[in-house]
Amino acid sequence: AVTVPAPAVATSAAVTDADPCCAAPLPVLGRDVTVPLVTGGEVTYAALDYAASAPALQRVWDDVAAYAPYYGSVHRGAGYLSQLSTDLFENSRGTVHEFLDCRDDDQVVFTRSTTDSLNLLAAALPADCQVFVFETEHHASLLPWRDARVTYLNAPRTHGEAVRTLETALADRDPYGPALVCVTGASNVTGELWPVRELAAAAHAHGARIVLDAAQLAPHHPLSVRELDVDWVAFSGHKLYAPFGSGVLAGRADWLQDAEPYLAGGGASRKVARRTDGGVDVEWHSTAARHEAGSPNVIGVYSIASACKALTEAGFGTLVAREQHLITKVRDGLAEVPEVKVLSLFGDDSPRVGVISFVVEGWNSSHFAAALSAEYGIGVRDGLFCAHPLVRTLLGSDPQDVGECGAPEAEPGERLLNAIRVSFGAGT
Ligand code: PLP
Repeated sequence: AVTVPAPAVATSAAVTDADPCCAAPLPVLGRDVTVPLVTGGEVTYAALDYAASAPALQRVWDDVAAYAPYYGSVHRGAGYLSQLSTDLFENSRGTVHEFLDCRDDDQVVFTRSTTDSLNLLAAALPADCQVFVFETEHHASLLPWRDARVTYLNAPRTHGEAVRTLETALADRDPYGPALVCVTGASNVTGELWPVRELAAAAHAHGARIVLDAAQLAPHHPLSVRELDVDWVAFSGHKLYAPFGSGVLAGRADWLQDAEPYLAGGGASRKVARRTDGGVDVEWHSTAARHEAGSPNVIGVYSIASACKALTEAGFGTLVAREQHLITKVRDGLAEVPEVKVLSLFGDDSPRVGVISFVVEGWNSSHFAAALSAEYGIGVRDGLFCAHPLVRTLLGSDPQDVGECGAPEAEPGERLLNAIRVSFGAGT
């Protein structure tokens, strides 16, 4: 067993002890869960890994429990429960549309996750589409474009540099072909916000479109598709306090309508008929259903809508203020420990959400994270956070030797970069 010094990171119990600026946290599941410690005894678990999966809001859980007895197939039955489930499912689309402040004619497609949403968009790219993406992206927004004409842009160190880098790359592109920029709204490593509005303006000025990976932004900030002027936005339910494996791709309908369905099957097809030559003709839906073949995840979709409503009703502005207060507290705590280096791309003053990664000099990050759990009941994440190029850039030439018992990515004996991440949100 490794013993780490008392954590600089406050436990969720400590950070909720009411500073006057803040509203109460939203009730979430798992608040009172106790976990065993290696040192003996038990402690209330401090969930500080929201960026991976946030705990479900109690409200989401209650809404789903109230609906559960009425659960039925969507778009497929004449029975009362099927009708009810279909209504809930379609109304959820409207709720998400409103939550994202989409344009009137934007489509909301339900998917399994952000990863799924971005892969769907990648599969729907028009022929010869050029894609521009910063190397700093999460793998979910970095990798789906590899079959397209993709340009990976170097990590910028300021918001201005990000915009200039994109503009330079776009100025060189084939001006007549379609192009797409993919950018994250808030980093899952540093929590830093990206200049989405400015990047969208740059993209549009060069005739390109832009998709926003809002996996980490949507749970922490109200977001407006209209105001940011992005063409699509993707996010995941399980990071937005809504478990059950669902996600969203919302935005312009045209590319999606023109593309082959993401999955072929029932629900996506309007009319199917046998041809005289023995084959099969299909007419696909042109609505969101085109990319939602198969029986949909009605519980997952309903839980997303429930979370959207809960966040809106709680007053997102208040939640943001509370979270900013917690960020300051955690960062101040970490700053008191000289061995701690907090990772940042854009610098200390950059606006950010409640996602903070750091390394501790002299400590293997994996051991440190494991010990935080085993000795203090604090759940954090360690590793490279599915953003290997970004973590490499942030840690530079200072790899930690995680050896044979390090991060899950490590091969025996391999030297890897590795960091610790604390993340929190509306339930903290
Ligand atoms: N984008 C970002 C910024 C993320 O943080 C994540 C998950 O951590 C994803 C995309 C992928 O989300 P999911 O695993 O729900 O598909």
